[in-house]
Amino acid sequence: MTSIRIAIIGAGMAGLKAASTLHKTGMNVTVFEKSRGLGGRLASRRTEFGHFNHGAQYVTARHPGFAAYIEQAKSFNAAQNWKPNLHHGQETSPQQLGNLALDHWYQGAPQMNKLIGPLVEPFEILKQHQITRIEQLDTRSFALHDDLDGKFGPFDGVIVTAPAPQTAQLLQPLSQRYDPIGDVVMAPCWAVMAAFETPLPTAFDAMLHPSPAISWAARSNPSDDLFHRRCPDPWVLHASPNWSRDHLEDDQERVIEKLLGALRDVSGVKLPDLHSVQAHRWRYARTETPLGSSHLNGMNGRVIAAGDWCLGARVEAAWRSGQSAAHAMIETLIG
Ligand SMILES: Cc1cc2nc3c(=O)[nH]c(=O)nc-3n(C[C@H](O)[C@H](O)[C@H](O)COP(=O)(O)OP(=O)(O)OC[C@H]3O[C@@H](n4cnc5c(N)ncnc54)[C@H](O)[C@@H]3O)c2cc1C
Repeated sequence: MTSIRIAIIGAGMAGLKAASTLHKTGMNVTVFEKSRGLGGRLASRRTEFGHFNHGAQYVTARHPGFAAYIEQAKSFNAAQNWKPNLHHGQETSPQQLGNLALDHWYQGAPQMNKLIGPLVEPFEILKQHQITRIEQLDTRSFALHDDLDGKFGPFDGVIVTAPAPQTAQLLQPLSQRYDPIGDVVMAPCWAVMAAFETPLPTAFDAMLHPSPAISWAARSNPSDDLFHRRCPDPWVLHASPNWSRDHLEDDQERVIEKLLGALRDVSGVKLPDLHSVQAHRWRYARTETPLGSSHLNGMNGRVIAAGDWCLGARVEAAWRSGQSAAHAMIETLIG
């Protein structure tokens, strides 16, 4: 272990990829995560039946490095192939149709947040620590402040992997170098998790753009047998970006009613009775306008912004950005 101390903000795919890469060089890494769990938008909500995947639904592996990571995750039983019986609606773009033909799909096993498993190494992870400020101590070191008045450090380098607007809030007070983060656009997404008492009468396991309101609907977590024995038919619905923007401040009950109504219209049948239903609002879900480079350096290369939003809207973009930020930090601190 070297004496170099690194702080990573965020324990999603980007933050954990950066942490694991730096840990392997012997650096002393601490990850700060505001939530109780790891994985960020690779999210699984625990219910009385089992876990609903209410964030990312599947991953693609177009980049060779990420494809190798998926193979590693499969060997850990943390990932598996997924080939649902898919219906695609009229709003599916020609590019999406082309990708559907080419891509293999993978899910975390038994639930999405397990996909980060191979990255969790013996570095320090402080959960339920929301970082509110990065303080520059001198030209080479930084302290972090959290929402409970804690102060941590000094750190020789910091990598911030929160969604773009939250990263901008932390970094823009430090330097104008981070101003381009303000040009990144991320769309919100309302997610509904519905546990039906009897199977929804449809031939499909997943629907892409079935209606203007719903961009995605799928049987959740199909590989978790125990979940499916307890819960006859669990579905996750994702509202489209436009619908989510228009209903961003609606209450959960109204969102649930509207989106289940849209699902009923799409499937053309009376929906089965609900055992339970809940909703989750992702304020920053999918990148619409990315930064266009794999990470953003500032403070002499010691404070780096990373995350899916640097390159795109997918988990593999997060993995690549986390790796790239870690390599940039190694270049700065070790050469
Ligand atoms: C509804 C939805 C559907 C999606 N579907 C797909 C899909 O099918 N396929 C796909 O590839 N991708 C999908 N995505 C996108 C995918 O989830 C993301 O690209 C990827 O998970 C982003 O990883 P990340 O590490 O960059 O960011 P995140 O996963 O957002 O991780 C950032 C972490 O930082 C933490 N954090 C934020 N601020 C602070 C702070 N101040 N202090 C401490 N911690 C902080 C957050 O809690 C979070 O854990 C979807 C996303 C959503 C929301």
